[in-house]
Amino acid sequence: MGEKNLDVAARLRPALRSFEPYDPAFSPCRVNLSANENTHELPGEVREAISAALLATPLNRYPDPMANDLRDALARRHGTDRAHVVVGNGGDELLFNLLFAFGGPGRVLVTCPPDFAEYANFARMTETEVRGVPRDADDFSIDADALVAAAEGAALVILTSPNNPTGDLVDRALVRRLLDETDALVLVDEAYVEFAGEEASVAPWVEHEGRLMVLRTLSKAFALAGLRVGYLLANPSVVDALAAVRQIYSVDVLAQAVALAAVERRRALAPVVADVVAERARLAAGLAGLDGVRVWPSAANFVLVRVPHAAEVRRRLRDEHSVLVRDFSSAPGLDDCLRVTVGTREENDALLDALAAIRGERPSVSS
Ligand code: PMP
Repeated sequence: MGEKNLDVAARLRPALRSFEPYDPAFSPCRVNLSANENTHELPGEVREAISAALLATPLNRYPDPMANDLRDALARRHGTDRAHVVVGNGGDELLFNLLFAFGGPGRVLVTCPPDFAEYANFARMTETEVRGVPRDADDFSIDADALVAAAEGAALVILTSPNNPTGDLVDRALVRRLLDETDALVLVDEAYVEFAGEEASVAPWVEHEGRLMVLRTLSKAFALAGLRVGYLLANPSVVDALAAVRQIYSVDVLAQAVALAAVERRRALAPVVADVVAERARLAAGLAGLDGVRVWPSAANFVLVRVPHAAEVRRRLRDEHSVLVRDFSSAPGLDDCLRVTVGTREENDALLDALAAIRGERPSVSS
């Protein structure tokens, strides 16, 4: 009736017409290893600090738009000052704002697919052209010369280290070359870098490299995906530009308080990260022991595997074993690939047992 003339598609900005609501429709499963979350329980000390922070936070006042206490704590973590830090509602908001601020019609984003799908989505939303430099089909390595050539004249290059979904680290010499040989802004997305070790990070370079930005998140190693807090380390002028275009209250008072409590107790989280890293090796070995399964090395909290009939295997894992993993088999370059988050020992065993059962084998690696 009233909706007779509601042709939303025609009214939408043309660049936004092909988007659909993001609803991963997670089936409630016994074991959810589909979203690269940290499935370990937080140490008691961190849980208690978070509870205390929540109780002590009044809700009647607006948040500090700049989240300065949190910026200070993050700056201390990285041996820098708050001018080099901007926080966001998850890394996702910062990625969008980067494209919003530095992309747009006539501007180019360079990426190395297969990588995090949101880069290309946010580029399309902001009408930024995407120039993809595809990774090697076998080992996912990046052709450095092709990337440097593609970055010529680009507004922004995004490298993901470790990369989602392939798990490999970016060669730091490649970041160096991009900074030396091109004029582009270079974002290194280090959402998963804690699982590779801080020494893999280029965060210390940010102080001296005006065009380098490093994205971090509390969603992975800090086990706070539901909180929605990420941050960017960047030159103060880039921080100011992003702070000027962001939704001013996107990081709410509870998120700021909890993030601060967790960042200040980050040392207590080290055993959790160490356990994920140990479990990653055990899970990868268990998967590699299954006939016909290929496992790529990973520096993150997930592993990419190739298994015959991947889509069917994923469906059977879900329907027959209540184990959820992510199907990438229809993504370009990822035929028959599944991405499996590293869970707790029990969760990983559940996955290995279920996969072995589906493939009619016995698990080749036991506890
Ligand atoms: N970068 C990469 C590579 C990711 O995989 C993710 C989340 N899956 C993000 C950034 C964003 O994470 P969040 O918004 O939870 O901080």
